[in-house]
Amino acid sequence: MRVRFCPSPTGNPHVGLVRTALFNWAFARHHQGTLVFRIEDTDAARDSEESYNQLLDAMRWLGFDWDEGPEVGGPHAPYRQSQRMDIYADVAQKLLDGGYAYHCYCSQEELDSRREAARAAGKPSGYDGHCRDLSAEQVERYQAEGRTPIVRFRMPDETITFDDLVRGELTFTAENVPDYGIVRANGAPLYTLVNPVDDALMEITHVLRGEDLLSSTPRQIALYKALMELGIAKRVPAFGHLPYVMGEGNKKLSKRDPQSSLNLYRERGFLPEGLLNYLSLLGWSLSADKDIFTIEEMVEAFEISDVNPNPARFDLKKCEAINADHIRMLEVKEFTERCRTWLKAPFAPWAPEAFDEAKWQAIAPHAQTRLKVLSEITENVDFLFLPEPVFDEASWTKAMKEGSDALLRTAREKLETADWTSAESLKEAVLAAGEAHGLKLGKAQAPVRVAVTGRTVGLPLFESLEVLGKEKTLARIDAALT
Ligand code: GLU
Repeated sequence: MRVRFCPSPTGNPHVGLVRTALFNWAFARHHQGTLVFRIEDTDAARDSEESYNQLLDAMRWLGFDWDEGPEVGGPHAPYRQSQRMDIYADVAQKLLDGGYAYHCYCSQEELDSRREAARAAGKPSGYDGHCRDLSAEQVERYQAEGRTPIVRFRMPDETITFDDLVRGELTFTAENVPDYGIVRANGAPLYTLVNPVDDALMEITHVLRGEDLLSSTPRQIALYKALMELGIAKRVPAFGHLPYVMGEGNKKLSKRDPQSSLNLYRERGFLPEGLLNYLSLLGWSLSADKDIFTIEEMVEAFEISDVNPNPARFDLKKCEAINADHIRMLEVKEFTERCRTWLKAPFAPWAPEAFDEAKWQAIAPHAQTRLKVLSEITENVDFLFLPEPVFDEASWTKAMKEGSDALLRTAREKLETADWTSAESLKEAVLAAGEAHGLKLGKAQAPVRVAVTGRTVGLPLFESLEVLGKEKTLARIDAALT
């Protein structure tokens, strides 16, 4: 089995692209096939080197490997289409010579006005075959007018049926699939040509891609057949079209949606394994009762026939919840290391020398149980490294009610004599202070938490106090009392 992932390097990598990469990768690995990574960069106006580098970086960050492609090479190199232009020119010429394609001289205005007329008459509005069989004189006349032709593929006059790996049998009638352009008037080959030509030359057996490309499949199947007759292709690959991903308001998630930018997920501290787990659920599931699994489990279980053709809904909350589970699944040591990015500039608000490794090691296991994304670590531990807590006004007013001062005074007294090597002892101190004022633990600990950490929510409080230490904790309570 030979599978490919072949993005165009435009803009930033987005979640739709990652989902496609994931399904191809899991499919290839499940079947011990070959994954070809190809860069479709024939559109000089839209493609960029920066996007290319980001793509490679994203693939590495996600943990994907590939058997052929950029950086690893392979028998069908080069794997960047921009370096394969002579191949496409050659194939286009063979298609012309064999009568599978023809020069089309129609101008855009002519195409538009005929399309309008066809629409008005209720007829199919695709290309009408005007230049299919031009006489030598007509060609000469067009050339004398200075027209430069595009190359158009001649669709056979037949119904095209194929068995989609996700959707089952699909049929396209000839009138719905008109002849289509494969080379621009300036000689630039189009996606419609280069993608199937490379799939043929790279001997791809399975094409898994988004549903948005479904309409190009019957055209490509016809082109593969022509390429087979020319001895260029060995087969028509099998196709599977992955379901649309819907975003907010049940609209298709678009590349431009901020929610779909992979960089955003990386910056927020999603784990690649959490993100991939979630994205796998966009059209697939391991089993009805198991949402959380590893990539190895996915590879083991992945069958393309299990992919659901219905649109999948992107749900950020669920994505975060799954990520939180993956954070908890990490070894503590691994968690401690992966948080590093957010423990320094530009994310951390404390001075670099204020960071204390021992304190970090001590608090990390308690933080691990609380985070949805790793970037939340910064505000959860800043009370340890900043000279003073960052008070947010809302927390302060919420926690510091009437009677809070009295409670804080008692808590301070009890904490003074508590055992500072035991979070349990600190808890008992605050519990006892609460009892003295008729307050349950939850109510009693709120002012203590705000006085010491600045916020009403955060890491387990007594462990936090223990790590911060007696001296600083008491000084902060004193400061809150003045
Ligand atoms: N370069 C195309 C894209 O990114 C690939 C489509 C395909 O998989 O055939 O949309």
